Amino acid sequence: MTLKLQYFQRKSTQTTLWKRCFMNQDFIASPIRNFYILLTEKPKTIMAVKEILLLGNPILRRRCKTVRDVRANDVEATIADLRETLADFRARSGFGRGIAAPQIGIAQQIIYINFEYTGALINPRITKRSRTKFRLWDDCFSFPDILVFLERNMAIEVAFLDELGTKRTLKARGGLAELLQHEIDHLNGVLAIDRAIDSKHIILRKEYERRSQMASVTM
Ligand SMILES: [Zn+2]
Repeated sequence: MTLKLQYFQRKSTQTTLWKRCFMNQDFIASPIRNFYILLTEKPKTIMAVKEILLLGNPILRRRCKTVRDVRANDVEATIADLRETLADFRARSGFGRGIAAPQIGIAQQIIYINFEYTGALINPRITKRSRTKFRLWDDCFSFPDILVFLERNMAIEVAFLDELGTKRTLKARGGLAELLQHEIDHLNGVLAIDRAIDSKHIILRKEYERRSQMASVTM
């Protein structure tokens, strides 16, 4: 808990602050002559499972803004929401390794992954890509009933800020590389369906599973 003690004159320019704090009821104030003591508590980060936006929602097509201050309260809250929402989706559906902020309606450059690396990547940039590519069936929380056959770089390097604002680099191959490419695409408004090798390779999950059982999913 962080406490911040402020005092100000009742008729000072901080009257607006006073009113705001009064409305939010996040203070203890005591009048001493014409001064008020204002005791504010840093808002607690309340995490929540958020609704995942679905294909067709225009927010998924926006370019996300760069995060300027990693320590800002809203960034901390977004990371907590992403962590909770990913954990909830995994528990309900049995799959899911990563999520991007626009999928919960926040157009900021933040992704959260839980596969080989666990944590938030803020302002992630792909700095290196292998020439070697591979193809896979990809899925997405924003269209959970659809699978897309697409191509990704086999290995990449990603520069990002971690939750403490430390500059880091992640070298990724295979599963982690394709996951990061998928999530970073979200921050640029790009979805897996845009990467399909052709329109015939966008199929319903039920059909994919039916064909898998017959061992005849064509590539
Ligand atoms: Zn996705």
